[in-house]
Amino acid sequence: MNTQILLDQFSLLYGSGAVLYTSPGRVNLIGEHTDYNGGFVLPGAIDKGIWAAVKPNGTSKINAFSLDYKASASFGMEEADLPAEGWAKYIFGVVREIIKRGGKPGGFDTVLAGDVPLGAGLSSSAALESTFAFALNDLFSLGIDRFELAKIGQATEHNYVGVKCGIMDQFASLFGKEGHLIRLDCRSLEYEYVPFDPKGYKVVLIDSMVKHELASSAYNKRRESCERVVASMKKRHPEVQFLRDASLNWLEEVKTEVSAEDFMRAKYVIEEIQRLLDACESLKKGDYVAVGEKMYGTHHGMSKLYEVSCDELDFLNDLAREQGVTGSRVMGGGFGGCTINLVPESKYDAFIDRTVKDFTARFGSAPKVYPVKIGAGARRLN
Ligand code: ADP
Ligand code: MG
Repeated sequence: MNTQILLDQFSLLYGSGAVLYTSPGRVNLIGEHTDYNGGFVLPGAIDKGIWAAVKPNGTSKINAFSLDYKASASFGMEEADLPAEGWAKYIFGVVREIIKRGGKPGGFDTVLAGDVPLGAGLSSSAALESTFAFALNDLFSLGIDRFELAKIGQATEHNYVGVKCGIMDQFASLFGKEGHLIRLDCRSLEYEYVPFDPKGYKVVLIDSMVKHELASSAYNKRRESCERVVASMKKRHPEVQFLRDASLNWLEEVKTEVSAEDFMRAKYVIEEIQRLLDACESLKKGDYVAVGEKMYGTHHGMSKLYEVSCDELDFLNDLAREQGVTGSRVMGGGFGGCTINLVPESKYDAFIDRTVKDFTARFGSAPKVYPVKIGAGARRLN
């Protein structure tokens, strides 16, 4: 990001003295559909984010200019002042959530821009929320810790955007650390940094650019399957709260009591939680081949047991395996979006060329390619 452009635009509109902040998007290496089952996820912040020049303006008004939309928005800080612009709602939401927690930010001027592709599953919205939560906390000395800043971003999605998301995206955006992924326990919210420094490999996302309509109804059905299996297990193991608590043996015990479909769903989740834990052990040893195998395992499980993949994603996964890519899997909830790939550098160019060519020939439109590096979380730049 050329931050000079941000500062120049800020000077033009509001004058000098702005402070620069940035906060990243994220990937999730492994651990899909594990969050609502009380399990783990393994996100990492990326080298793409939102950048903002911000300066208090001594009023109780916010004046924002989006470089990417070439649009401005001005709004107050009371609940009734909700702006009409979609992108400005995120800024407003963050301000409101801070105020609800007793914080007293003042008005400010800001110019923002980003390079996280929108809606691709890299969480541009969390990057946007985290940038402003972090900036306001810093500029107005509010004394809010990073964890609460993440919750402020999450609450913004819930209350001002209407997306009932978990905490992973905002958490990764705030706690990201270069050379590390974050193993986040979605039940206790405890976390641990796991080294991720794949020398000789590149991480690249291939965006299928499809979004199948099924996604939200299927998501609810998957959750219900998991809940039914937990309810069955409770008869023998009253302490079970989530599939996180269960073993494959316990699943076998209820095999005749749950539907074949529910059984498959639960099997995927229990295996996925274990795969993630195993992948963390491999990361600590620097064994990226083993990590890659786990990624393929996740894809297989999501495709065959959890049944949330689609032709486009399976096609990308098969292509990756054929070309000797070390690890590949669908990232996110499924039914479209990106695959995340761990590719040996020596095979990278050929992999990208062939993938774009074959995917386009098969589906009639080109996938998008986003190389990413694991980077740092929210921070002040000047
Ligand atoms: P994602 O999966 O990328 O988080 P969302 O639909 O949740 O997708 O969030 C995308 C929204 O976030 C955009 O529609 C826009 O309102 C806001 N946004 C993301 N990036 C920017 C940006 N660079 N400038 C302004 N708003 C942005
Ligand atoms: Mg989002």
